[in-house]
Amino acid sequence: MDYQAILKQYWGYDSFRGIQENIIRSIGEGRDTLGLMPTGGGKSVTFQVPALAQEGMCLVITPLIALMKDQVQNLKRRGIKALAVYSGMSRQDIITTLENAIFGNYKFLYISPERLDTEIFRIKLAKMKISLITVDESHCISQWGYDFRPAYLKIAEVRHLLPDVPILALTATATPEVVKDIQQRLEFRKENVFRMSFERTNLAYVVRQTENKASELLHILQRMEGSAILYVRNRRRTKEVTEWLQQQGITADFYHAGLDDAVKDIRQQRWQKGESRVMVATNAFGMGIDKPDVRLVIHLDLPDSIEAYFQEAGRAGRDGQKAYAIILYAQSDSTTLRKRIPDNFPEKDYIRDVYEHLQYYYEMAMGDGLGCVREFDIEDFCRKFKYFPVPVDSALKILTQAGYLEYTDEQDNASRLLFSVGREELYRLRELGEDMDRLIQAALRSYTGLFTDYAFISEETLAIRTGLTQRQVYEMLKELSRRRIVSYIPRKKTPYIIYTRERVESNRLNIPPAVYEERKARYEQRIKAMLEYVTNDTACRSRMLLHYFGEQNEHDCSQCDTCLRLRHKITTDKQADSLSGRVLHCLSGHSLTPAALADQLLVEKDLLAETLRQMMDDKQIFTHNGMLQIRK
Ligand code: ADP
Ligand code: MG
Repeated sequence: MDYQAILKQYWGYDSFRGIQENIIRSIGEGRDTLGLMPTGGGKSVTFQVPALAQEGMCLVITPLIALMKDQVQNLKRRGIKALAVYSGMSRQDIITTLENAIFGNYKFLYISPERLDTEIFRIKLAKMKISLITVDESHCISQWGYDFRPAYLKIAEVRHLLPDVPILALTATATPEVVKDIQQRLEFRKENVFRMSFERTNLAYVVRQTENKASELLHILQRMEGSAILYVRNRRRTKEVTEWLQQQGITADFYHAGLDDAVKDIRQQRWQKGESRVMVATNAFGMGIDKPDVRLVIHLDLPDSIEAYFQEAGRAGRDGQKAYAIILYAQSDSTTLRKRIPDNFPEKDYIRDVYEHLQYYYEMAMGDGLGCVREFDIEDFCRKFKYFPVPVDSALKILTQAGYLEYTDEQDNASRLLFSVGREELYRLRELGEDMDRLIQAALRSYTGLFTDYAFISEETLAIRTGLTQRQVYEMLKELSRRRIVSYIPRKKTPYIIYTRERVESNRLNIPPAVYEERKARYEQRIKAMLEYVTNDTACRSRMLLHYFGEQNEHDCSQCDTCLRLRHKITTDKQADSLSGRVLHCLSGHSLTPAALADQLLVEKDLLAETLRQMMDDKQIFTHNGMLQIRK
């Protein structure tokens, strides 16, 4: 099969990059395949090319709706037929889309994992000719990973419905144990992994310890040029920091999951075009954003895993030009980070209380509840029962994992529209402008009953029918709303609670180790690894990160803060002390060769040699048959 010709024909590229072709051949031969490639490495092509080379349609499972729409647009632009099904679409739209997928000669059907176990999907799936299943962001299937999404577990069931179809799993982040787990969960017939190095040679990782982050931040932004992403932990901080930056004369915007889609869109575009320099954001920002010339990714707060950090840092320098990923770290940050353990895993009794109070909140009787769907206003709940939102949110997530309920904070509601003026009056209104008229006409044609009651509408549909952009539609509806011609409720993300079991006595709640103790232990591990990364100032940062993902590499990056410091021989006494401490720790209980020790410590060789020499002089350690040992 001439894959290269397909690449050339649809994408215009002359050759494959790195391991792309190996992955494509493997999947082309019908083998289950896991591909590990860094962000921007070119994962999409690895399923798109083989799908085009075969009969039938490729089913693509991917978690983010925005990403999905993006990819479908992209394919359409290349003249490739693609569809998407996601939550937030009306039932009728879903049915139409799935019908199209059966009869319309489409090559790609994108679907969010939550839709996989709906009856309608399964019925229609049986009639589709699927050539390949692709699982993007496949680390989401692993409970060992940092971004587990229970809906991903449904993929294995889909596999059972399509026993002969090979599966391609892709990810840009997976520790060795997650690599194994992905293959098991997806029921690979045989282990089969292709790995491209995660090393980013143009990216300098820096940890800057400071007790005055504001001035350090300003210093960095003034000294260096180019677009930046500034990650902070919570939504409130995004706004505060943005305002502060603006006062300092730096253009900035903020972004978090709680903003309206249209607002997000406007800000993202402004940043993308370079009209504002800094995007101050929570971790909700970044996935699927393909801005090549980000020069700086700065973390003001620590992420809670190396995986998350690596993803976020990796958004700098996708154009291959020099870029920086900088963490500003204050001593107190380690306490703050450790505090997230009880925040994420409140005591079991606390979880039971939350469960119980939830029944009072909904006035639910014992044995009631199965299948019940309720909107959930966490602030209202916390006010009534005197809770803090963060641990309540965690408790509900744990109850979700334990199978008692389903708690979604990302349910997309459709927008709603109602005309506040009558039909007659509407026709008498003048000077609304041609676009506005067109929009009103399109709305009246597309939806019935708009004069009597709120109807669900889709800005997307209206945009298509009027030739306006979605943003224009949104702005115009807002304007009409201000002029009291319509009442418009833009879609928002309303959290829901769905009871997946009947209400039980709270003291009979069963929260098994797999959803509590084991997950907590892994979470603690990740926090620990993150803290080790920021507090270790003797090892090459790039090597530390690669090592975490199971990648052995022998060379230092020579551009991170440790490498630079060591090159300039400005090792402090404190560093030497901390290194000798770590040497003693490694040697306690067993002896090691210097090479094995160097491997464990991931430390720059000259520095280690110097430290070992010093420790031997000080009679702390000695060698015996080439093995280093502690002198008792
Ligand atoms: P990932 O999903 O791994 O983050 P993408 O699939 O979005 O990466 O690809 C990143 C960019 O690289 C895209 O613009 C894509 O068109 C480009 N690209 C992919 N493969 C090649 C190739 N073989 N040659 C040149 N550019 C490529
Ligand atoms: Mg991708």
